[in-house]
Formats: sequence, C-alpha cells, structure tokens
Amino acid sequence: MPDPAPRVVNFSAGPGVLPLSVLEQVRSDLISLPGVGASALEVSHRSAWFEGVIEEAEGNLRTLLGIGERHRVLFCQGGATMQFSMVPMNLLRGNDHGADFVLTGSWGGKAVPEAAREGAARVAWTNEGERFVRVPTEEELTRALDDDPAYVHITTNETIQGVEYPDTPALADDVVLVADSSSDFLSRPVDVSRYGVLYAGAQKNAGPAGVTVVIVRDDVLERVPDGLPTMLDYRTYADSGSMHNTPPVFAIYVVMLVTRWIRHEIGGLERMAARNREKAALLYDVIDEFPDLYRGHAQPASRSRMNVTFRLPTPEAEARFLEEATQEGLTELRGHRSVGGIRASIYNAMPVDGVERLAALMRRSATRRP
Ligand code: PMP
Repeated sequence: MPDPAPRVVNFSAGPGVLPLSVLEQVRSDLISLPGVGASALEVSHRSAWFEGVIEEAEGNLRTLLGIGERHRVLFCQGGATMQFSMVPMNLLRGNDHGADFVLTGSWGGKAVPEAAREGAARVAWTNEGERFVRVPTEEELTRALDDDPAYVHITTNETIQGVEYPDTPALADDVVLVADSSSDFLSRPVDVSRYGVLYAGAQKNAGPAGVTVVIVRDDVLERVPDGLPTMLDYRTYADSGSMHNTPPVFAIYVVMLVTRWIRHEIGGLERMAARNREKAALLYDVIDEFPDLYRGHAQPASRSRMNVTFRLPTPEAEARFLEEATQEGLTELRGHRSVGGIRASIYNAMPVDGVERLAALMRRSATRRP
C-alpha cells in the first residue's frame, strides 16, 4: 500500500479533522473487516457486524454523556439542517404554543424560517445588533422567553462567529430545551437530562458527514403529532433502532470509532474538555497579549473553545497571515465569508501541537512588527 500524502494541520470548520488513530483503523478495515471479509463500505446494515457497531456507537455516547433511560439516541441523515425542519415538525406542528429562538449567531437564524412553516416561531433574544459577539446573561434570557413556549431553541456553539455558551443555560424545569450542538458536541460533559432534544451533525467532533446524532427525551416523543412523513417522524427512528431503512453505515461506523477513541484513548469528556480548554487558551492568550494586532470577535465570557475567531487590522494583513500559515502547512484558517478575518477550528481531534504551531505563528507575526 503506498504511503499517504503528508497531512496538513487542518483547521477546517467542518467536515473537520479526525483522530489519526481512527483514520488508521478505517484504512486497515477498508478492504476487508476481520471476521467479515468485506469492506465497511460493502456490508449489510442487517449484518451482525453492523449490529455490534451501532450498539457500541450508542453505548459509547450514553457512557460519555451520561445519557439516562429517559432519552433515546437516534441516528438520522440530512445534517443539522434537516433538524431545523424535523424539530418543529415533531414539536410545533399543531401546537397552540410557539417556539422561542435564542440567536447567538448565523446558524440559529437559519432554523427560524423552517420552524415558521410549522407554527409560531419567535426570536426571543438576539445579539445580531452587536454582530453576534455574546450569549445572553441568564437574567436576559429569563426575561426574554415566553411564559409557556412549545420549546426554546439555542445553538450551544455558533460555528461561524465562535460564540459558545459556557454552560447549559438555566431555564425552568418544565421548559423543553432544544439545542443545536453540531460544533461542540462531545467536546465537554453536558447534562443531557436538561434537554428535550439535543442534535449534532457528526462532521466536526464525532465523525464524518452523513449522520446526525439526535438525542430525544421520551416525553417529547409522546407528543409527536400523527401524520408526519415516515422519515421525518422521530418515532420511526426510536422504534426501529434507526434502522427503518438503510442507515449511513460507514458514517456510523466512524462515529463508533471516534467515540471509542474519546472513551479509551482520551479517557472521557472531562479529559477532552480539559484538553480543549488548554488548546483554546493557547490562541486566546496570544490574542489578548497583542490587542493592537489581533481583535477577537467574541466577548471573553462567550468565547468558543472550538472556533477561535479574530481579525487583523486590514484585509491585506489578514491575506498575508493566511498566506504564511498555508506555507507552514496550517490550512483552512480563512474566516466564514459573512464575518471575514480568521477562524481557527480546533475540534477534539486537532492535536495540541497543531494549535501550538498556529500560536507560534501569531506570536511571530506580532513581534516582528515595527
Ligand atoms: N448548525 C451548526 C452550529 C453548524 O455549525 C452547521 C454546519 N456548519 C449546521 C448547523 C449545518 O449543518 P449541516 O451541514 O450538517 O446541515
């Protein structure tokens, strides 16, 4: 087998970097799985091999996140974007109450018009006027929310702006909290019991594109209206173990390997979170040390540990920085076109030394200025 081409330090916002040991396992299984004799790309989803895979993937997620009996773990397709529609179809259709959206960045905003097709969708709080630089305080949030909403939708980490809740916001116990956690899923411990629905596209922290993990509480499932298209009804997935039709076998297999890596190589989500805090601090420390050159986008208390966003004084300085980074093998650092500047996505699988190399470049660029 020829050696693979050298790997860059990949700061892509998603699909993002995967652990090398997982890729090596995939490579070794790719032609023929031991005991199966066929590739993970060729095997039936009804095979004993895949039954073991999906069972372990779910088991790893349950162990890592401490998911209890009241929640189901579903493997859907259609990305987080399909959840923008599926959540309101299952929770808002026919509901007398409206859904409250808390907008802390671009992705939350994309969920609103999809919900509006199904019922009343209200922007309860938004930071768009400040260009999305922070999450609400608990007091602002409590004040903003409807008395009895069908559910409250938040985005735990806004990938484009790099704005993240430091913790699950405190809401009344009877509020159904729904979260898009696509870009910080499995990056830290989460009290899943607080969520009615928590969903995440896998392609940042959990695996490749093609599967979306949806964690749904039983009382939410009980309220799903009848008459939804089969594949858009959460109960179809809950009742069939996500096997009503052919699931994304290969993507779920990689999710199984990634969650196994977090459990057994990293040692769980507390350790994962500590490593992620350490990596993010390497970059925010340089930003804070050289405020004349680097302007962080998010306010410090809302800074994302997954997507570090900042600007340099001019577009020319940013272009030069990106050019130098590319020359050093540090790639995909250009900020999203709607925000500009630089965005370093440093998901779970980004090695510490990759972030150290970026921090060193930032420091070098700052200190060689006149
Ligand atoms: N929500 C968030 C927070 C995201 O980061 C993304 C993807 N970047 C999406 C939703 C959309 O996800 P998908 O492409 O899987 O539909």
